[in-house]
Amino acid sequence: MAKVCNTCGLPTELCVCEDVAKTEQKLEVHVEERRYDKEVTVASGFRSSEIDIDELSSELKSSFACGGTVDGDSIELQGNHREGLIEELENRGFEVEA
Ligand SMILES: [Zn+2]
Repeated sequence: MAKVCNTCGLPTELCVCEDVAKTEQKLEVHVEERRYDKEVTVASGFRSSEIDIDELSSELKSSFACGGTVDGDSIELQGNHREGLIEELENRGFEVEA
C-alpha cells in the first residue's frame, strides 16, 4: 500500500502539506548584534511542528559554512548572512517577509 499523509490523507506523492506549510510560515530574517560585536542572522517564525527545523538548520550551516543554533522556532546563524539566507529560504519554498 502507498504511503499516506497523516495530515491530508492523500498519498504522499500527491500531498502538498509540506509545501503549503512552508508558504504559510511568514518568516522574518534579521541581523542582531551580540556581545563582543558578534553578529548573528536570525530567521524566525518557523513552525517546528511542520518542518524539520534541526535538519534545515544543519543544511543552512553547511551552505553558509558557519555555526548556528536552533532556538525554539528560530534558527540563528553566526555572522551576517541576511541577503543570502533570504534567497536560500525562498529557494526552498518559504515565504520571507521583507
Ligand atoms: Zn498531506
